[in-house]
Amino acid sequence: MDLLGQADPIGDELICSGKGCPQTAVWGLLWNNPKIHTPERRKVWLACDEHRAHLEKFLGLRDFLKATVPVSDLEQKEQ
Ligand SMILES: [Zn+2]
Repeated sequence: MDLLGQADPIGDELICSGKGCPQTAVWGLLWNNPKIHTPERRKVWLACDEHRAHLEKFLGLRDFLKATVPVSDLEQKEQ
């Protein structure tokens, strides 16, 4: 299964999704909320090393987390 093929492209600003965190993201958390997204869709949250575990736990508790991949594996939007 091609997880990344269904992931939303990320912008050129790779900033952590942690609240108020200004750090450069190194991880992409791929997630899906079955109530609002089609099953193949993957939303992407970016995370620094520090916030990866917190964000994974948040999504994991809701059963939304599908995978965590290095940011370099994600497709970036065309400019
Ligand atoms: Zn962070």
